[in-house]
Amino acid sequence: MSKSLDTFLEKNLNELKEQGLYNEIDPVEGPNGPIIKIGGKDLINLSSNNYLGLATNDELKRIAKEATDKYGVGAGAVRTINGTLDLHVKLEEKLAEFKGTEAAISYQSGFNCNMAAISGVMDKNDAILSDQLNHASIIDGCRLSRAKIIAYKHNDMDDLRAKAKEAKESGLYNKIMVITDGVFSMDGDLAKLPEIVEIAREFDLITYVDDAHGSGVMGKGKGTVKHFGLEKEIDFQIGTLSKAIGVVGGYVAGSKQLIDWLKVRSRPFLFSTALPPGDVAAITAAIQMLIDSTELHDKLWDNGNYFKAGLEKLGFDIGHSETPITPTIIGDEKLTQQFSKRLAEEGVYAKSIVFPTVPKGTGRVRNMPTAAHTKEMLDDALAIYEKVGKELGVIN
Ligand SMILES: *Cc1c(COP(=O)(O)O)cnc(C)c1O
Repeated sequence: MSKSLDTFLEKNLNELKEQGLYNEIDPVEGPNGPIIKIGGKDLINLSSNNYLGLATNDELKRIAKEATDKYGVGAGAVRTINGTLDLHVKLEEKLAEFKGTEAAISYQSGFNCNMAAISGVMDKNDAILSDQLNHASIIDGCRLSRAKIIAYKHNDMDDLRAKAKEAKESGLYNKIMVITDGVFSMDGDLAKLPEIVEIAREFDLITYVDDAHGSGVMGKGKGTVKHFGLEKEIDFQIGTLSKAIGVVGGYVAGSKQLIDWLKVRSRPFLFSTALPPGDVAAITAAIQMLIDSTELHDKLWDNGNYFKAGLEKLGFDIGHSETPITPTIIGDEKLTQQFSKRLAEEGVYAKSIVFPTVPKGTGRVRNMPTAAHTKEMLDDALAIYEKVGKELGVIN
């Protein structure tokens, strides 16, 4: 191994470990459902994005197996050569129906969807107004485009308006885009989409909403854009197929022209193999379930509200979430990690989230109650929270 690499790794790994910022990974020994097995032990799972329990849904498993039997395990090529199966076409029609747009395009992940879509449209002569707390994949997608990145304060519409005005009046840019998460995953708060749309109209901004945590959760399941009734106003509706939908992948829903363009210019669509058939069939069926019924969505909210009320009653700081995402804000990074470790020892898996994922000093244990949890599981989790919270002096 090269000496300079060795020195670099040793120094930086040690530094992270000393600061309590080194993340240990625990493999899960079975399905990622409401109860997970880690190290041979069953734990109440409050850390997955499997909001509706669809990742382990029996009907979807059956559909994935059936498609695998018929088409094989892989798509065999990139979409633009001959990796586009009729299953992909059906999926994209279903996504457009789900999102209320003319068309949609799917990608291999939500992460590479942002790489694809932002740099597919924006270039070095453009500017992007980006919420300070946007997801890492948005930040990387913006960087890849080489557009000027102008961060605005989180959900601060005065700051966005001032920066949009300045960018527009400078005359420096061909196009200006505003990008935001629909639901911010660390705090569970929503983007102020009605105001963003108003500012976008005033300064001719392209609007881009990444609703990875909103689909299946907001707007009766159809997402944050639908929640605000803005399907006709948002240019790019981005989503992931890996969270509430339970499988894997990402997509853009928008106008037919936009999707036609992304099909010839977005690089992961042209240069990375298409989603596998079993996954595509399961995703299409999952979306149909969300179109047909709000039962899972309603259960998710019911559980989320129940768990939040329980934590609040115990005296925890749960921030200002507007969704089922429930942070328990601890503050200090080391204490946060200790808290999460003690929860796991007692039977609750709730992952600590610390800098750099969230700002320094705002370490939290993030809880993701899902539609698959029972009230009993949530009660058990609350009792463990009370015990560990008192033990570590986080609550009285
Ligand atoms: C999780 C997430 C992604 C990444 O999605 P994957 O499908 O897991 O790659 C992108 N954007 C946001 C806002 C996310 O929360």
